[in-house]
Amino acid sequence: MEILISGAGVAGPVLAYWLRRHGMTPVVVERTPSPRIGLGGHAVDLFAPAMEVAARMALDGVLRQSRTELDALALVRRGKLPVELAFDALAPAFADDRHVEILRGELVTTLHAATRGDVEYHFGDSVRSLREDSGGCHVTFESGTTRRFDLVVGADGLHSTVRRLTFGDEKEMVHHLGGYLAVFSVPGDLALPRRTAVYNGVNRIAVVYPVKQTGLARAVLVFRKPGQEHDIHRDIAAQQRFVRREYAGEGWRVPVLLDAMENADDFYFDSLSQVRLGSWSRGRVTLVGDAGFAPGPAVGGGTTLAFVSAYVLAHALAEAQGDHAAAFSAYESRMHDYVRTCREAAQRAMRRAIPSSWAHKAASTTALRLLPRLPRPLHRRLLAGGVSNALSSFTLPG
Ligand SMILES: Cc1cc2nc3c(=O)[nH]c(=O)nc-3n(C[C@H](O)[C@H](O)[C@H](O)COP(=O)(O)OP(=O)(O)OC[C@H]3O[C@@H](n4cnc5c(N)ncnc54)[C@H](O)[C@@H]3O)c2cc1C
Repeated sequence: MEILISGAGVAGPVLAYWLRRHGMTPVVVERTPSPRIGLGGHAVDLFAPAMEVAARMALDGVLRQSRTELDALALVRRGKLPVELAFDALAPAFADDRHVEILRGELVTTLHAATRGDVEYHFGDSVRSLREDSGGCHVTFESGTTRRFDLVVGADGLHSTVRRLTFGDEKEMVHHLGGYLAVFSVPGDLALPRRTAVYNGVNRIAVVYPVKQTGLARAVLVFRKPGQEHDIHRDIAAQQRFVRREYAGEGWRVPVLLDAMENADDFYFDSLSQVRLGSWSRGRVTLVGDAGFAPGPAVGGGTTLAFVSAYVLAHALAEAQGDHAAAFSAYESRMHDYVRTCREAAQRAMRRAIPSSWAHKAASTTALRLLPRLPRPLHRRLLAGGVSNALSSFTLPG
């Protein structure tokens, strides 16, 4: 069975690996001109089920070696020392050695290296159109070539092209959570050693962490803002002006971060959005990872979902022995509750992580100070928002 996978981020290569292991033939097409080798991108979390998939791919050791090595959260305060809390005190899932935080770029590089030997990759191309008949899926690529596949899987992220071509315009299924985020590299001395420094404003936070591999640091600005700013899509200067306006007057190192933002060559900006579809399969097409059910970047553990959904889909296809309709149905029913739990956890995390008032901000600081002295079951309710624990609770098939 020949299966086209659109997207070589996280879900795409994991799916390609498992399809090969089950005797199928994946072909991966990726829009970027070359593999995104390197240390770019934000830090992402691999919770227990994703690390279990990685272990079954014999990649858990190399992923552990690449972990970010950040030990604690440091909440910075005006004129006072930061309030610090070790990550393993935040939630049981962080204390678990099956949780790994890693730079997305390093993860993608590792996954590509693990699959490129026996998977056909095409970089610098994308699906232009799809036509399905009883003989399969006939795909025309932007490069002009056409080819037939048995199945097509969209692993092409939040703004998936396969999803648009199969299910329609993203406005119907990409739901704005009422916020935005910007990520970019900043000079290393703006970070605290081995700490994720968090500055809380009202309706906005700024996070800075060191990147040990580059000596630089990464800044993540996350803020609430209802309504979609459609006119700044793809306009980096307009996005940076928008971020500047939202953070005007904020304290700590925020003014320096805003200056650094304009010099960064890896500025990333997007809305905080969730993908919600009743079903993520139609005919011979299905979706994995963010394309099908992004829970919301930075707040919902989308990377764990990407790993797990790719593994579960490949397993369902192998079990169904060529009956793709049965496989897609088994895949969706196995993923359904987990996707819903992650979505809900992400919405909760966003409400809790970004203070909505001065009172909320003060309560967060107090909670962080008291946390080490409270019994463990209270930790989850107070801070971790259940995200990490929800994400750790999935039993893989096979
Ligand atoms: C700033 C930020 C912070 C985040 N923080 C966290 C975190 O802390 N923890 C966490 O778990 N997750 C986090 N995430 C989410 C995480 O990055 C995603 O959920 C995860 O990468 C999803 O993997 P994916 O393979 O589904 O999609 P992606 O990683 O987005 O990969 C999609 C791939 O498809 C390619 N592509 C796109 N369009 C096309 C096309 N038309 N044709 C071919 N290829 C295409 C892209 O170039 C990309 O390589 C964060 C995301 C962002 C943006």
